[in-house]
This record gives sequence, C-alpha cells and structure tokens, in this order.
Amino acid sequence: MLNRQGRPTTPTDADMAQRATFTGNRALQQVEPLIFEIGRVDATGVDIDEPEPFTPRLGGLERADGVGLPGLSEPEAMRHYVRLSQKNYGIDTGLFPLGSCTMKHNPRLNERMARLPGFGDIHPLQPVSTVQGALELIDMLAAWLMELTGMRAVAMSPKAGAHGELCGMMAIKAAIAARGEGEVRRTVLVPESAHGTNPATAALIGFAVKPVPVRPDGTVDPETVRALVGPDVAAIMLTNPNTCGLFEPDIVAIAAAMHEAGAYFYCDGANFNAIVGKARPGDLGVDAMHINLHKTFSTPHGGGGPGSGPVVLSDRLAAFAPTPFVTRSGDGFALVEHADEAEEGGASPFGRLTAFHGQMGMFVRALSYMLSHGADGMKQASEDAVLNANYVRACLSDLMSQPFGDRPCMHEVLFDDAWLKGSGVTTLDFAKAMIDEGYHPMTVYFPLVVHGAMLIEPTESESKASLDLFVATLRDLAMAAKRGETERFTGAPYFAPLRRLDETRAARSPVLRWTPPAPVRDAAE
Ligand SMILES: *Cc1c(COP(=O)(O)O)cnc(C)c1O
Repeated sequence: MLNRQGRPTTPTDADMAQRATFTGNRALQQVEPLIFEIGRVDATGVDIDEPEPFTPRLGGLERADGVGLPGLSEPEAMRHYVRLSQKNYGIDTGLFPLGSCTMKHNPRLNERMARLPGFGDIHPLQPVSTVQGALELIDMLAAWLMELTGMRAVAMSPKAGAHGELCGMMAIKAAIAARGEGEVRRTVLVPESAHGTNPATAALIGFAVKPVPVRPDGTVDPETVRALVGPDVAAIMLTNPNTCGLFEPDIVAIAAAMHEAGAYFYCDGANFNAIVGKARPGDLGVDAMHINLHKTFSTPHGGGGPGSGPVVLSDRLAAFAPTPFVTRSGDGFALVEHADEAEEGGASPFGRLTAFHGQMGMFVRALSYMLSHGADGMKQASEDAVLNANYVRACLSDLMSQPFGDRPCMHEVLFDDAWLKGSGVTTLDFAKAMIDEGYHPMTVYFPLVVHGAMLIEPTESESKASLDLFVATLRDLAMAAKRGETERFTGAPYFAPLRRLDETRAARSPVLRWTPPAPVRDAAE
C-alpha cells in the first residue's frame, strides 16, 4: 500500500469491501436507473398553465395520446444527470493510458475560445459576410495543417478520423477514375497491423482489401509491398508511426513503390502526435492523410464524439478535395459550396462530404492549442509524448515482455502477454485489476498481430509524478500476478459498482430500447 500523509483511515477489510449492499450503491457511488425508471408519466417538473381551448391545425394528424416521456422534478432531474456525469472516467479524472487514442489534456483556454459568441453562437446558414472571422479561423487552421504536414491542400469538413479516411480514399478513387482506371484499380493494400477502420473504409467504398504481412520486427517491408502492388492496386493505407508504436523505417521506399506502380499512398495520421514538428508526411511521399484534431491537437474526445478529421492532400490529389471549402476573395473569405464554382477555379471535387463545414468548435480548440504552443511548443509536445512512452517502457521492461523491445518506441509502448504465461492471468484480467487501482485500462488485444497486446500511450501531458505512480501500480500488479495471486485478477474489478460484464453480448445484442414493464398486479387482489 502506498504511504500517504493525512489522517489515517481504517484499513479496508477486503471481504467487507466486496460485500453486497442493500441499495446496490457502493459507498457514495450511486446506482443510477434509467430516467424512464425513475420518472413518472404523470409528473412534471414545471408548472405550466393549462392551455386555453384551441382548435388544432394539424389536419387530424395531432397525437391522440401521451408521448410517454418520464416526468421528474428539478432536483430529481439534476441528481440523475449529475450522477451519470460522475460515472464518467475521463482525462480530467486521471491518467488515461489508451494506446492509439492519444488521450491528452484538453487545455481550458481552448474551451474558453470555443465558447466565444462569434464562434460558438453562429449558424452555418448565416450570410458569409457575417461570419468572416470564423472563415478566417478555418483558413488559418488549414494553413497550419498544411505547414505542419508539408502538403498542398486540406479538406476540413470530415468529422472524425474514420470519416477522414473516407474522404481521402474517395479523393483517391476520384483521381483514379479521372485517369480512366476506375475499372481496373480496385484493390487497396492494408498492413495486418492496421487499425480496423482502414480496411473498413476501403471496403465501404467498394475496394477489395489485400492484407500486407508485417515483418517479424513489426514494420512493413517495401519489397513485400513491391511484390503486391500492380496495375490493379489503387492505394496502400499505412499508419505511421504504426500501431505497434514503431516508425516505419522504409516509408519513403514504400511510397516510391506505390507511385512507380501508379498507385497512391494513404497515411493514417492518427498517430501524428508523435511526429509533429519532427517529420512532415509530405516529405515522406504521402498523398493523403487524416489528422485527428481530437487526438493530436488536444480537442476532447471519447464516448462517440465530437471529433474532427481534416485530410491533407498532396499535389496529386488536391484538385479532388470535396466541397464545401473556404477561399480567400479580395480582402475577405468566401465559401465554395458547389461543384461548378469549384470547377471554375480548376478543381474537380469528388462531391460534398458533409452538410456544412465541419466541426467549428473543434477548429477553434485546435487553433487555440496551436497558437498557444507555437511551433517550438508543438515539437516539444511530440518529443515529450515519445519520451513518456519510453519512460514507461524502461520502467516496466524487467517485468513485462515487449514484442519489439529491442529498440525505443516512437509513439506508444507495446507489451504482450508472454510474461503472464503460466500465471493463470490474462491480458483482460490484468486490465480489469487496473480498474480496482483507479486506472482506466490501456488498450488491450490491439494490434491483433501481437498476442495479448497491451498498448500504453501516456501522452506528453502526464507529469513524471503521475507516470511514477502509474508505473509503481503496474509493477505492483505485475509482481502479484507473478507471485500467483491469481484471484486478485480473475475476479477483478472488485471495487467497481458493476463487475465483469458480458462485453461480447453487450456489443452483439445491445439493448437500446426501454420497454415499460407490465403493470404490477395488486397483491391484495
Ligand atoms: C483513432 C484512430 C482511427 C480512427 O479515428 P476516429 O476519429 O476514432 O474515427 C484510425 N486509425 C488509428 C490508428 C486510430 O488510432
């Protein structure tokens, strides 16, 4: 147990801590039913006068019975939502070591900027003359993204990384169609270690996916790519630094192999946080790359949104960027909304990707992050992120095995489960035991090419003290696993309000709809 100063508390009795309680609550952690279960259809939290008699003007389409919404008093509604918010584990609660996700601190300054009325309260259908500042901000952010990546153009509207993949691959598809090769180039190469969104994107827009085996050292061999790429191949989708946390050493040769064969290089830029200010994808031969503003540029993410995934494009693809986009016109800014306007400017957009212009709030936050850090600060953030990952790697390498542990990592740090062999503890058990210690688990079982993978990305925003406590916790757990304290893991989490859930069933047959229970019959009847 850690020694901490402060008032001594009664030592916890492990059995007591696991005891079921009458309410189901665990200390001040309250069980929270669905709002439909606590509300009553006949109750209301507001006092509105009965309407004057009126004649409906809905031509007989008016609703005949109640909507069935639950009614709650104001304190009941408040408690419900506050309790729900307290169930949320986020980056503002503690270290969030999810590998591949870049869970970094979201500076409050960004939030302040995003709430400025000129950014926060505008409407996408407002006349362009009234939103010149907002358009200028989009244009400035676009310029920074092109500068940092060394690319020619950027499509700002994609709303997440996966949406950016769709955008980039549709630009590639359009470029191939424009060359008259749309019928032949129907295959996309995707390394085995890729994030699942890569093959999903390619398949969604009609490409066949051909897996590229990775070398035993976790990277892609340009000779393998050369052997697989032919006149039928449209592109490769490659992540760099890759999902094993390694910088692809032969990325330039891979790009050349694709270009020589008349194909394109899509780079998954979700791991850009590790190389901002250090390497420019444009210099590496990349044709299209999405940038997760919600990872690299600190805009908040998790729980399904919001995200923002602008796509930078090379000279070869710039003309195919989708509408709408912002251009400079005279002293101000204009929006190019339609393909014919774009064509007048020499472009041939593949279409319109979103109804409006992208995630304005995220644009403001990302630019605020960039301007407050400056070029030197962004470079420093990348260096510190990689340093932090290597610190965790070095501090755990005597206890936990690493598949590619012979060299420093260049993004997140990857462990496998070879060190748990014979202990009766799996990667999943280990992750669940972290919850008891107050940590959100790391990414587990990804990438798929590594057995029992544990992928940890501490990001630059964790202090040394925070990393030291994290490392000490993992060391304590690792030693307990090796000592054979199997139960601490296989039954974990013991202290969470809910214990092991059937995650497969939850994902395969989610219960998304509440149905009112059958009325309870009066027992005295
Ligand atoms: C996060 C991530 C994505 C997908 O990004 P979303 O914004 O979640 O859609 C794609 N590839 C990699 C490597 C990622 O880490």
